[in-house]
Amino acid sequence: MKRLQCKDIPDLPILDLVRKCSDQEVSIGDYQPIWATQFGPDGDNWDGYANSVRLAMPPGVPDRLVLAKMEGLIRRGLVQGCTCGCRGDFEITDAGRLAIQKLGGEGYGQKGTE
Ligand SMILES: [Zn+2]
Repeated sequence: MKRLQCKDIPDLPILDLVRKCSDQEVSIGDYQPIWATQFGPDGDNWDGYANSVRLAMPPGVPDRLVLAKMEGLIRRGLVQGCTCGCRGDFEITDAGRLAIQKLGGEGYGQKGTE
C-alpha cells in the first residue's frame, strides 16, 4: 500500500476548518475555541474535538503526518500555529483566507461579509 504523503491530503478542508475555528463558528458544548488543534482520536474511535484538524483529513493519518501537513501550511503562510506536538493553536491567516477563496470555498475568506 502506498504511503500517504502531505500532498495526498487536500488543503481546502483543513483551511476551511481552521477558518471556522478562527471565526468562532465551531464550538464544543458550551465552549467556543478560537483555535484549531492537532489532537484527535486514533483509529476509528472519534470522541473528540470538533476543532481538530484531523476531522478535515482522511481517516487514520498518522500523528507525524498530521503535524507535517500543518507544518507545510504554516510554512506557506496559510495558517499560524505550532507543530511541536502541543495542542497547535492553529489559526487562519489572511493568505489562508485568500487560498480558501482560490480553492473554491463557499463564501469563505472574508470575515464580516454576508
Ligand atoms: Zn507548540
